[in-house]
Amino acid sequence: MIDRTLFKEEHRLFRDNLKRFLAKEVLPYHAQWEERGYVDREVWRHAGLEGFLCPTVPEVYGGSGADQLFSVAVIEEIALAGASGLGWSLHSDVVAPYILMYGTEAQRSHYLPGMVSGEIIGAIAMTEPAAGSDLKGILTTAKRDGDEYVVNGSKTFITNGQHCDLVILAVKTGPLEGVKEISLLLVDAALTGFSRGKLLKKSGMRALDTTELFFDEMRVPVSNLLGQEGQGFAMLMQQLPWERLQAAIYSVAAAETAISSTIDYTRGRRAFGRELLAFQNTRFTLSELKTEVQIGRVFVDRCVELLLQGKLDATAASMAKYWTTNLGFKVMDACIQLHGGYGYMHDFPISRAWADAGIYRLAGGSNEIMKELIGRSLK
Ligand SMILES: Cc1cc2nc3c(=O)[nH]c(=O)nc-3n(C[C@H](O)[C@H](O)[C@H](O)COP(=O)(O)OP(=O)(O)OC[C@H]3O[C@@H](n4cnc5c(N)ncnc54)[C@H](O)[C@@H]3O)c2cc1C
Repeated sequence: MIDRTLFKEEHRLFRDNLKRFLAKEVLPYHAQWEERGYVDREVWRHAGLEGFLCPTVPEVYGGSGADQLFSVAVIEEIALAGASGLGWSLHSDVVAPYILMYGTEAQRSHYLPGMVSGEIIGAIAMTEPAAGSDLKGILTTAKRDGDEYVVNGSKTFITNGQHCDLVILAVKTGPLEGVKEISLLLVDAALTGFSRGKLLKKSGMRALDTTELFFDEMRVPVSNLLGQEGQGFAMLMQQLPWERLQAAIYSVAAAETAISSTIDYTRGRRAFGRELLAFQNTRFTLSELKTEVQIGRVFVDRCVELLLQGKLDATAASMAKYWTTNLGFKVMDACIQLHGGYGYMHDFPISRAWADAGIYRLAGGSNEIMKELIGRSLK
């Protein structure tokens, strides 16, 4: 295997702590959380105390001011453990960076310390029942009335939706036609007019809280506008490369763990007097998958390096997201086959990993949209 060169001793120590935390505080309860559709709120607070939430937030706002490799470590360890119910990366590496990057000093000091400690759970709500890939089609409106916006509309598929305290909400502050009228509001879930719909039952990532949200004459202070009016789409586009790379980081780590657990399984099971791993088909299948995942790993690690240097562009991030998330699904599918009927049983980690792997091909921008974005670089 090709050595990874990204991480230092401090990242390894952090990883070891996180592994122990996941083994003790998350994995024993994960199946139970899958049944009911969300993780314990308490685990957020414990994670906050241990420094696993928002590690890159500066010390002045309660964080550790760590580099993004700590975030990469969190995403990878969650994938390796199969703890897909934890909506931490969306909270720490999607929501918090918006506030840090575009928020006023008052907004940062109001929200970030609570997000670091796990007292405030963050969500971001763009998708609506009639507008997912095509964000310009959103219909949630925010009409200015004195010092407030009056918000009406709804969102769907919102990660952390049932338990969030803060939502970055994409709204139209002008006419409905284009993207230049999209703005982002910081919305407190305690506001009158904010309500949560039902917890959505998913095929995979079943412990991940995914919910509808509704806004009925909800009054949001103008001081909760994030950045400038009409700049919402531009802000989203700026942040999306890192968000998409997160999907790739998760997918490669999940594929690596699926391959090693399938090697163990096929070594331990016998048919026709031999280990399954002794069949040429098993070895060829796993060899091909291992090769492709290794190629994905090298590409994704290089994208992480570019991210750290501030040079990751939309094309490379879209390539990483579409290719590795498709690969992740292909790996899980082949590994299920090698497990035989047991692979299809929900109690087997490979079965859950397969169902989980489907989501990243869609969420965070579908892989077809990724190819559209890559297509813009074809000159
Ligand atoms: C588990 C989960 C969590 C999510 N979390 C969040 C969240 O926290 N916040 C949030 O805002 N959203 C969230 N989403 C929504 C997600 O981002 C959308 O599902 C995604 O953007 C696709 O939108 P859609 O579901 O409306 O599909 P559609 O846009 O209706 O697409 C349907 C199909 O048409 C294809 N398609 C659409 N346009 C094109 C095109 N131009 N060319 C080719 N094919 C096209 C798509 O690729 C897809 O295959 C989540 C979704 C899931 C499943």
